[in-house]
Amino acid sequence: MENLEKIVSFCKRKGFVFQSSDIYGGFGGFYDYGPLGVELKNNIKKSWWNYTVYKRANVVGLDSSIIMNPKIWEASGHTKTFSDPLAECKECHKRFRTDHLIKEQNCDEANLKCPNCKGLFMPSRQFNLMLRTYIGPVEDDASVAYLRPETAQAIFVNYRNILDTQRVKPPFGIAQIGKGFRNEITPGNFIFRTREFEQMELEFFVKPGEDEKFFEYWVNERMRWYVEVLGIKKENLRIAYQSKEDLAHYAKACGDIEYKFPIGWSEIEGIANRGDFDLTQHEKYSGVDLKYFDAESGESYLPYVIEPSCGVDRVVLALLCEAYTEIEGGRTTTTESAKEIETVLRLNKNLSPVKIAILPLVKNKEIITEKAKEIYNLLSSHFYCEYDEAGTIGRRYRRQDEIGTPYCITIDFDTVEKDNSVTVRDRDTMAQERIEIDNLIMYFYKQFNNL
Ligand SMILES: [Zn+2]
Repeated sequence: MENLEKIVSFCKRKGFVFQSSDIYGGFGGFYDYGPLGVELKNNIKKSWWNYTVYKRANVVGLDSSIIMNPKIWEASGHTKTFSDPLAECKECHKRFRTDHLIKEQNCDEANLKCPNCKGLFMPSRQFNLMLRTYIGPVEDDASVAYLRPETAQAIFVNYRNILDTQRVKPPFGIAQIGKGFRNEITPGNFIFRTREFEQMELEFFVKPGEDEKFFEYWVNERMRWYVEVLGIKKENLRIAYQSKEDLAHYAKACGDIEYKFPIGWSEIEGIANRGDFDLTQHEKYSGVDLKYFDAESGESYLPYVIEPSCGVDRVVLALLCEAYTEIEGGRTTTTESAKEIETVLRLNKNLSPVKIAILPLVKNKEIITEKAKEIYNLLSSHFYCEYDEAGTIGRRYRRQDEIGTPYCITIDFDTVEKDNSVTVRDRDTMAQERIEIDNLIMYFYKQFNNL
């Protein structure tokens, strides 16, 4: 487990994550995903969608708008209660989260000291985290709207449409991946707490009375995804159940899946039993009947909702922390690497940004580079590949190991003149295997099977 600063500088150096608006000095709480980061992130989302939607007959997808009717946020309680306690320093006027300061300084609110100037604080007040904007050509109170602080509400307000148009009945789920926005008082810890983030949320609608069973089911299913599909070590994950006092007003039960980050155990996903809070509220505020009518039993009811809600950016960070490995002196005993630190990104190969690197062994020999480009063209319509002919082969392997590329292919004279085969090298074992070009596509489909 490496410290966070190392991961941050690695991400920047290799093109995983940059601070937003970099040439303007950044913008607090916003980040951009570079060429490798976007691949990793897309692979995570693809994996979640496969696991949550495609592999289940009773889950369907949704992609809603980010800005919605502001009444939704009244109904959900966000306009009134979606806030954090804010402490403002009397001296320097810097602002902090009161609850974070209390935890850090281990004292009560009245005795808190400003971390910046040691000054005292004004009385704490609630600060609403929703980002406001105006819709239409007039900027007044009537045109205020919000960037959604979560994707969940969009699912609740589409629940009726989906019941009416799809062949679903409880228990069934609606899944959505999308951006959310929160005006965090103190964003921080790299991409862990940002003001713009991405969520993967499932709202699973069940018959009242079956909610506890399905809550437990989803806690287990979600854990299984992290361990069996993403390959995160079990000992780096845990479930923290919230006590009754800590529960949000809408929740009957909540379990947080936490990862052992360099900053300590922190939440990457929350699984909540929301009861019928949301549908009740939207029924009341919209005036639309949201009950489900079961034609078989003749019963009519508002379903209860189980919600596994996962932060994509936090999963990216957890996977990078998990995979980043430094090997002092390197894995080979060449003089070149004897005193260096070798970095290997041991990502699950299905999640790796680049899947295969194609490396011609002899530079400036046209028959070899031509063949290598041919192989690149063959494989790149199936897998994300990189072509690299610059530098010694040792350096090129190291570069690919560092960004987590699971396989390197080398092309040499034998390829062209003798056996029509290439050498495939494995990132983790460094074992090499000779594979015929005609069998390459099938060979790699066998290696990447498990998203
Ligand atoms: Zn201060």
